[in-house]
Amino acid sequence: MDVLFSHADAVLMDDAGTVLKDAYVEVSGKQIRFVGTKRPEGFSGREIDCGGKVLMPGLVNAHTHVPMTLMRGYADGYDLQTWLNDYIFPAESRLDGRAVRAGTALGLAEMIASGITSFSDMYYFCDEIVEETVAAGLEANISRGMTNFTPEFDPKTHSGYLETRRLAEKWNGYQDGQIRIDASIHGEYTSGPALWRCMADYAMEQGLGMHVHLSETKAEQEECIARHQLTPAAVLDRYGVWNTRAIAAHCVFVTEEDIALLKERGVTAVHNPVSNLKLASGIAPVPRFLSAGLNVALGTDGVSSNNSHDLFEEIKLAAMLHKGVSHDPRAVTTLEALKMATVNGAAAQGRKAGKIAQGFAANLILLDFDRPHLAPCHDVLSHLVFAARGSDVVMNMTAGKIIYENGTFQTIDLERVLWEVRHYAMQKVFG
Ligand SMILES: [Zn+2]
Repeated sequence: MDVLFSHADAVLMDDAGTVLKDAYVEVSGKQIRFVGTKRPEGFSGREIDCGGKVLMPGLVNAHTHVPMTLMRGYADGYDLQTWLNDYIFPAESRLDGRAVRAGTALGLAEMIASGITSFSDMYYFCDEIVEETVAAGLEANISRGMTNFTPEFDPKTHSGYLETRRLAEKWNGYQDGQIRIDASIHGEYTSGPALWRCMADYAMEQGLGMHVHLSETKAEQEECIARHQLTPAAVLDRYGVWNTRAIAAHCVFVTEEDIALLKERGVTAVHNPVSNLKLASGIAPVPRFLSAGLNVALGTDGVSSNNSHDLFEEIKLAAMLHKGVSHDPRAVTTLEALKMATVNGAAAQGRKAGKIAQGFAANLILLDFDRPHLAPCHDVLSHLVFAARGSDVVMNMTAGKIIYENGTFQTIDLERVLWEVRHYAMQKVFG
């Protein structure tokens, strides 16, 4: 059914940061058909009066590992390498498809209720992740995180490579692009040149995006330079990894040369401030990315190092952190922080979304501004960045369909999901 949002304060996410007061936004099918201050003629469908509410594009979580909700709050107080090798990898070795399904559905519920309409994921058991995402109604770019810990790499027998090929054949472009499959290299430190070349060639040949963890820790950067006499960004470039639309998650330790290279290749740097702080990795030089003209998006990373999927926390930190580091109150502006969470994330995914404009995807969220912590309101953008929380979201429309409204999930049985997490997945993974 077509939907007309009326009397909304509409945050268009154009370059001027326009907030259109008392606006009408008409949705037809999966797209926005009309935006203006006059009622569109001839509308028939459902009208939603948005008085007291703010309408904005749905948020894009550009780097996560959704099933890791199962490890929320597990193993605090370690750096990345200790956390991964001693806690996360052993727990993940006990996962099965049913546990991944439960963790995914839980993460999807959390994202839907906090205003995310699209996400880029890197994990495994990807069929289960895709099926749960399709059922929940979110959009996603899904990738199989590829690792290879031996010097040999044979694409004819490597399970991750074979799974990526099968996933792409089965799901890429599914339901008008609701699902896209990206290629993935988990990271420089978990794989080698033969895999990089193979994945880069495959992504180019199939027109797939690429999703990589890059320069997350100081140790990763230094060990790569010792191994290859090049930074991770530079060595991956030698094998063509950045020749397609690519996401580089973290970029905490990239050099000036790396930033110039990523800009030249059109790579999106995904900033994950909460995860980088929790794992004591560091702070990505985001103002340098912005001044170099790099596309910067935001991600929560896995909930296991966050510990939530609330992207409003990332928006606030992205806007605040760099002011404190640089002593410059304009280091990242409110509009820049909001762009990272919307239109920049959509660009990273290769989607025409993230703006309220005619012809863009009808991925829209409503926030209730009649809440004590949002009154009074001098500046809508400022409130969205510094005062709003995921729990202020009262409606999530993805691809023209309302999947969450006033606390009710339309596509997810939360009670069943919580039962599966508590009574199946927890027993399976943690005993
Ligand atoms: Zn990650």
